[in-house]
Amino acid sequence: GGEGGGDYLSGLNPEQRMAVETTEGPVLVLAGAGTGKTRVLTTRLAHILATGKARPWELLVVTFTNKAAREMRERITHLIGPLAEGLRWLGTFHSVAASILRRHAELVGLKSSFTILDTDDQERLLKQLLEAANIDTKRWTPKSLAGLIDHWKNRGWTPDKLPPSEDFANGKGQTLYAAYQSRLATLNACDFGDLLLHNLTILSKHADIAEEYRARFRYILVDEYQDTNVAQYLWLRLLTASTGNVCCVGDDDQSIYGWRGAEVDNILRFERDFPGARIIKLERNYRSTSHILGAASGLIASNRDRLGKTLWTQDQSGEKVRVRGVWDGEAEARLIADEIETARKQGMNYKDMAILVRASFQMRAFEERLVMLAVPYVVIGGPRFFERAEIRDAHAYLRLIQSEDDDLAFERIVNVPKRGIGDTSVQKILQIARQNGVSAMTAVRDLITSDELQARTRTALSTFVRDLDRWRALAGDTPHWSVTETVLEESGYTDMQKADRVTGQTRLDNLKELVVAMQSFETLGAYLEHVSLVMDLDRGAGDDPDGAGAVQIMTLHGAKGLEFPLVFLPGWEEGVFPSQRSIDEKGEKGLEEERRLAYVGVTRAKQDARISFAANRLVYGRWTTQLPSRFVDELPMDHVEAQSDTGYYGATPGMKDAKSRWDDAPSFGAGYSSPGWQRAKAFTARQTPRSAHARHAVIEGDGRLIATADPKSGAGWA
Ligand code: ATP
Ligand code: MG
Repeated sequence: GGEGGGDYLSGLNPEQRMAVETTEGPVLVLAGAGTGKTRVLTTRLAHILATGKARPWELLVVTFTNKAAREMRERITHLIGPLAEGLRWLGTFHSVAASILRRHAELVGLKSSFTILDTDDQERLLKQLLEAANIDTKRWTPKSLAGLIDHWKNRGWTPDKLPPSEDFANGKGQTLYAAYQSRLATLNACDFGDLLLHNLTILSKHADIAEEYRARFRYILVDEYQDTNVAQYLWLRLLTASTGNVCCVGDDDQSIYGWRGAEVDNILRFERDFPGARIIKLERNYRSTSHILGAASGLIASNRDRLGKTLWTQDQSGEKVRVRGVWDGEAEARLIADEIETARKQGMNYKDMAILVRASFQMRAFEERLVMLAVPYVVIGGPRFFERAEIRDAHAYLRLIQSEDDDLAFERIVNVPKRGIGDTSVQKILQIARQNGVSAMTAVRDLITSDELQARTRTALSTFVRDLDRWRALAGDTPHWSVTETVLEESGYTDMQKADRVTGQTRLDNLKELVVAMQSFETLGAYLEHVSLVMDLDRGAGDDPDGAGAVQIMTLHGAKGLEFPLVFLPGWEEGVFPSQRSIDEKGEKGLEEERRLAYVGVTRAKQDARISFAANRLVYGRWTTQLPSRFVDELPMDHVEAQSDTGYYGATPGMKDAKSRWDDAPSFGAGYSSPGWQRAKAFTARQTPRSAHARHAVIEGDGRLIATADPKSGAGWA
């Protein structure tokens, strides 16, 4: 390299190098997955520092996650040494905005010691406000208001700027929002969304302060630019000096946070806002083999709303992307776990393998299978399935039905959902129980006939006791998984989740999956024992005797920017992926966002991508027939290999024929509608599933498969 002469430049291709060395003026690097955008950004940072163009604290560097920020800091340290320590403005939008806010808190009515509220606190506060305004909090829940306020903040709307079209509780939106903001100020607190919003207020109202930052940040670098929302965009604009030494890197095909208010339009706006901006395209992909890249490019080509780009790779090695159809979700888990073991035997480390799912409920089957085989795994970006709050809540109900002595279970759910049994009452019950040496439930049975508790609490408790008794009686002659459905329904737990517009649906999906998991066990007792075993076996997974690390399980959203040699992409079924909800809520736009998510998924793989789908799923005790995802159809046949492993369909004579037909099916790539495919599918559907609950798919005389259930309702899943 010229000026700095750093070695760090030597490995770059000419376009990458241009993106690194064009330090002055606005630069937009718009390029596909794996083309080295993040690497360019890191190298550019090193370059600016190494050539003395700026000192570390004069750089503003924004990444999408804290993990990405940490990794970037490590890479820079590796490139330029201890100088990297001075990078105090490297972080996520939120972390940098929080530092700025601390320095000017008084300008928005806060002290620099302000606290950042978590969602629990936030909702409690909103509940008080809603109650004070006599609003029915069952209909207009604190949680949904919290979600709405967050949405407003992401768009940069303070209460006074809220458009009239935005509302909550019939005309009370703006008043509630304003009241909430002033309550926060009184408490010297802010929520997550405020971090940026307050920054916007400060920077736009105080020209001198804005000018100070613009002078300080001589260079601005932004990764994953396609997912910035309006507030983040405005914030960047306010901090960018007229010299405009700003470099944003992104990929419109990887924009996957539309639901968080991210705007691909920001990319297009860049050129307008920064006239003379240099747009650099990177076309060589360094991450993946040509088959993986070909499959991903072919898939994303079905999106109409894109800027369009070319991608190529020199890596002509590697296997085609494998697409496998299996009988059901459990078979899919077995298949993937087996392949993980095989890959490990061939010398691959567990940490180089990832399972990327569309929705968290899908994790359950894989986790259980891996635990059973003692394969170490980690769930990135969330709890493990059986540790999720909603699953623990459901278990607590079941445990209490199973055994009245389970005080821990009692304590967990006696007031979840809220029944008006406050903390003080619960503590009192537990204390009395301890004094008398009995279980909490026994104490409750006594207390509801005494006058030690308030009448209201007593009424609530008697209802609770009556419900529990009824459910226990039901458990005597009803399948245990069906009891679980009843309990979740009648306890109000399901309704509580339905009222939650933000995470409710995900939690309901997880609860459905819980019911599926229960169906493999004869009794409630056997199931609960299994769960405690799984949780316990898990515990040993932390140690890593052979240094192979752990298999990474995460959602597709969480995998953004990452890469793995071997990637499993399960559940490519209509309704699951694309998620039916996305399509229902956002139509074609939703579908295109799902397709971008599929593109993100496939492009995480370096050597090997394996897609799978199940022909059947258990939904509330009923088998529903699943259709392969339309994304499977859209994969270009040149880069894909369809496989079926007889073992996963049951070894019956007819299968051999079906299998060979399937493998040979000439028009596979053109879609799964080829006769061979239909045949194979019909055969798979005809195999007898292991579970006695199975309902068979209906097969017409000509071998065509007619779904027993509307595929859309199998989609009740997503
Ligand atoms: P994504 O869109 O998924 O975030 P990206 O464009 O940010 O991808 P990087 O993660 O920066 O891509 O790079 C992908 C892989 O290619 C990394 O392993 C990186 O080290 C490697 N790579 C990038 N540029 C080069 C290069 N010039 N020579 C060798 N390897 C490279
Ligand atoms: Mg990247």
